[in-house]
Amino acid sequence: AKAWALASRPQGMPVEANFELIDLPHRALADGEVRVANRWLSVDPYMRGRMNDVKSYVPPYALGEPMQGGAVGEVIESRADGIAAGDRVLHMEGWRDEAVVAAAALQKLPQLGVSDQAFLGQLGMPGMTAYFGLLAVAEAKAGDTVFVSAAAGAVGSTVVQIAKAKGMTVIGSAGGAEKGAWVTSLGADAVVDYKAEKDLVRALGKAAPNGIDVYFDNVGGDHLDAALAVANERARFALCGMIDIYNDTRPTGLRYLARAIGARIRMQGFIVIDFFPRMDEFYRDMAGLLQAGKLDARETIHDGLEAMPRAFLDLFSGGNTGKMLIRL
Ligand code: NDP
Repeated sequence: AKAWALASRPQGMPVEANFELIDLPHRALADGEVRVANRWLSVDPYMRGRMNDVKSYVPPYALGEPMQGGAVGEVIESRADGIAAGDRVLHMEGWRDEAVVAAAALQKLPQLGVSDQAFLGQLGMPGMTAYFGLLAVAEAKAGDTVFVSAAAGAVGSTVVQIAKAKGMTVIGSAGGAEKGAWVTSLGADAVVDYKAEKDLVRALGKAAPNGIDVYFDNVGGDHLDAALAVANERARFALCGMIDIYNDTRPTGLRYLARAIGARIRMQGFIVIDFFPRMDEFYRDMAGLLQAGKLDARETIHDGLEAMPRAFLDLFSGGNTGKMLIRL
């Protein structure tokens, strides 16, 4: 078996030379372990943070060791009660083709009538991020105007659709006309192509003539600043991600931050793991939306383990529409 390891820590934007493909020695299973042939590997922006040697909510990747990440696969050998060869499971030993996983660290895929890889996307971590970030963190409700950045991405495209299904007005931003057209087809009331706009504050002001009540931030930087500029009184900001600054080595400033005072804006950061105890509620509501035909999911799929670093780097130039995945 093979796995990707971090060869060196990136400075600024990562490059392919920061990664190395290493051999994983075969080892016998201990009691309570299973061997999984991975079929799908998740490619996520948060992995950039784990490449830095800093204290965070997840430990940094160790140099020369297999990297981790979400994965879905098929059990090919089991020494764990209740798990048999052929079972489909979700676990965190991604970035590799085959994994030895403790039964306590995996989840059998729920039977919800969706594809296996949906549990890495809309019915997985990105979907939960969208759902709880919008409804629990930002407390968005019917009638609100919601602005969401990276709206053609895995999290953002799900935010758009949940918000529409729950009676909100939605403005999305995405890079390029093609992505914008898809976001519109998902039900967004207005779309900002941030790559074509010189002045994001003006563009957002035009797209949201009545202001915004909620901002779901996936991007940070100028997007966050523009949201501050047009936010209504008592707007709620869910700070989910700031991909615009993940590779920055210099500090960034917000020109409109002081508006948070006068407009009583509430900004709340969150990490999706805070909501794992509410997984059942999420499955119930999302399965309902899926069965009602209210959710469309796109995937950007690259084949083969070798493709993973390139796919990861592509996240930072918008190379994906919907969920970025590796298929093995
Ligand atoms: P996406 O599928 O949205 O992929 C990233 C997208 O970000 C790209 O497709 C690109 O789209 C956009 N992007 C990249 N660089 C920039 C930039 N400089 N300015 C504006 N847009 C940019 O990824 P995810 O859905 O997995 O994640 C979205 C965000 O949510 C990330 O910030 C991630 O870190 C965060 N996140 C947070 C979690 C939490 O628990 N708080 C959990 C999961 C994700 P485009 O072509 O439109 O530029």
